[in-house]
Amino acid sequence: MKKRYLIGNLKMNILSVEDTEQYLSVFRREMKGKKQESTVTVIAPPFPYLERFHKELPENAALGAQDVFWEKEGSYTGEVSYPMLKDIGTEYVIVGHSERRQYGRETDEDVARKVQALLKGNLRPVICTGETEDERRRGETAAVLEAQLRGALEDLSPMQAEKILIAYEPRWAIGTDRTPESEDILEAKVIIYRMVAAAYGAAVAERIPILYGGSVKASLLDRVCFSAQMDGVLVGRESLFPYEVAKMADIIENYQAPERREGKPEEG
Ligand code: PEP
Repeated sequence: MKKRYLIGNLKMNILSVEDTEQYLSVFRREMKGKKQESTVTVIAPPFPYLERFHKELPENAALGAQDVFWEKEGSYTGEVSYPMLKDIGTEYVIVGHSERRQYGRETDEDVARKVQALLKGNLRPVICTGETEDERRRGETAAVLEAQLRGALEDLSPMQAEKILIAYEPRWAIGTDRTPESEDILEAKVIIYRMVAAAYGAAVAERIPILYGGSVKASLLDRVCFSAQMDGVLVGRESLFPYEVAKMADIIENYQAPERREGKPEEG
């Protein structure tokens, strides 16, 4: 069964050990005894709290990081490498987030190098892609997604390609409380799916989870995830409320698709 993913990106929030403990204690309480057979719930806290999250996350949740550097070690002041993340229990790493592209000047080439590094370290990259509002208005969504993903999808073995996750995050929907229609999200999924299928074949493409991100909350899961045939969601602000993460994990786990065709978006 293809799993669905719920990834909480805490961004640069949670400012103290005390906040961290409080988050974890509520999260543990809310996740207690929850069946997570078809859902993978991941929390990506800021770097300084990764280890504490690793030690105290409930068993039915996994640890994510919000970025990584592409080199393994050396004179790269301020950077964090994949062996360091791996060593403290990280399994998933977000790369190419629009905020890193904007404030960290991260380029598509950087994203590609980070993906290679993560795969070398046996970590799973969550590659973010998405168009701006102007690009969308100009009908450039497909071209933007293709340009952003091309480098990251190059030079992978099919086995490596199966380890990646891709998050479609239209930039205009992040932090804005605006969300696209289900059809628009599905259209983006088809673009991404076709790109992966062209590079690695349909069998590999069907195994790569394609998530939606941008102003997600529990009440919108039907629109942005289920109706849009997405394989999960990447959640920013709403993941700061651990009980909301647990609620979404429940909804996703218990969702029954009317006639879900295993992983393959309906084309046309
Ligand atoms: C994000 O930062 O990836 C995100 C989706 O944020 P928000 O849910 O706050 O829009």
